[in-house]
Amino acid sequence: TSVTPLSALSADDLAARLTTVRAAYDELKARGLKLDLTRGKPGADQLDLSNALLDLPSSYRDRSGADVRNYGGLDGLVEMREIFADLLAVDVASVVCGGNSSLTMMHQVLTALLLKGGPDSPRPWSQEPVVKFVCPVPGYDRHFTMLAELGIEMVSVPMHSDGPDVAAVRALVADPSVKGMWIVPTYANPTGAVCSAEVAAELMAMPTAAPDFRILWDNAYAVHHLTDEETKSADALGLAAASGHPNRPIMFASTSKITWAGAGVAALAASPENRAWYLERLGFAAIGPDKVNHLRHVELFGDADGVRAHMRKHRDLIAPKFAAVEDALSSRLTGLGIAEWTVPTGGYFVNLDVLDGTASRVVQLAKEAGIALTPAGSAFPHGNDPRDRNIRLAPTFPVLAEVEAAMAGVAVCVELAALEQLTA
Ligand code: PMP
Repeated sequence: TSVTPLSALSADDLAARLTTVRAAYDELKARGLKLDLTRGKPGADQLDLSNALLDLPSSYRDRSGADVRNYGGLDGLVEMREIFADLLAVDVASVVCGGNSSLTMMHQVLTALLLKGGPDSPRPWSQEPVVKFVCPVPGYDRHFTMLAELGIEMVSVPMHSDGPDVAAVRALVADPSVKGMWIVPTYANPTGAVCSAEVAAELMAMPTAAPDFRILWDNAYAVHHLTDEETKSADALGLAAASGHPNRPIMFASTSKITWAGAGVAALAASPENRAWYLERLGFAAIGPDKVNHLRHVELFGDADGVRAHMRKHRDLIAPKFAAVEDALSSRLTGLGIAEWTVPTGGYFVNLDVLDGTASRVVQLAKEAGIALTPAGSAFPHGNDPRDRNIRLAPTFPVLAEVEAAMAGVAVCVELAALEQLTA
């Protein structure tokens, strides 16, 4: 294959190449594939790593002797909170363990801010004329759809390899209607970026016009390393407290991609004031969490090092799938000047940027060839990628051979869409 950028080819060469790549695409279509790279779900082999949970807990008493089958313990089993505190490098006193979904905890926090306001809010957010959130893009689609559902407006800032664009964030938070922002600090969905300690320190210290500005620090992939370099997350709560804004960050995590995505344990960590505020609201909605589930997770892992060892088994299963994505993209597309992609060191996604204006076409071509990709634009508020270039690839769920086949096909679609545009 030529490594001449397509933009440097003559019209005749482009037309000839279009013919060749179209033939490759027709062959791909003729294979009648049925493959899916849409959602970041653990594969069945990953779920199997936690099958011991089916026979746990072995007892119904926690360390204090309390009967976990009964009501109570609103903030979760202390042994489970200790594990999250260690993994997230926060004080156990800041942690609440809840049900299976951290997204639900984020939704609870936002609805409580809207209906009641936070500890430092002049009034409930819903009584403000307009509420806006800073959204680093590309980002997690469910963060954006949650805000849209709740009537919170979204303003985008670019996501860089060391975190959100701080200058852009600073400019936006001078507006008092900007009440918060999302961040996935470690192995961001979808770019894999890791927020540096410097960026985190600036975000926690920067002046904001809103006195009750919140950073929803969604550390869903804190321990989901793909290499030996086991990156540590910035100390959000510590940095915020040190700069006089202890209530700014609220941290979230879960074992969804550690044990079972549908039956794990979610956690929140925050300042004493925020934590008490959250638990007070929660007390009107629940008598206690599923402590049986907490206990079986505690028995499965023993401690945080047990989780870390378990994550290395996940890595062994999924790192080859990420390598297959990289191989397929680089062998077909390197040097053509029509695509850039990430080589993440953790998390669940590869971020693929194709030639501007062709992402929707790539997704359509792939679909017609039996390869399901996340809809173009889904990593942007309201599904609107202004450059129509971003595609999120999720290689964990299919088996390796399927990832290889799907990605070889995706690479063909990327090149075909680019050639169609360049010859149009
Ligand atoms: N946050 C991020 C950034 C995610 O990628 C995901 C899962 N795709 C979640 C949260 C969902 O977490 P949970 O299962 O705990 O609700």
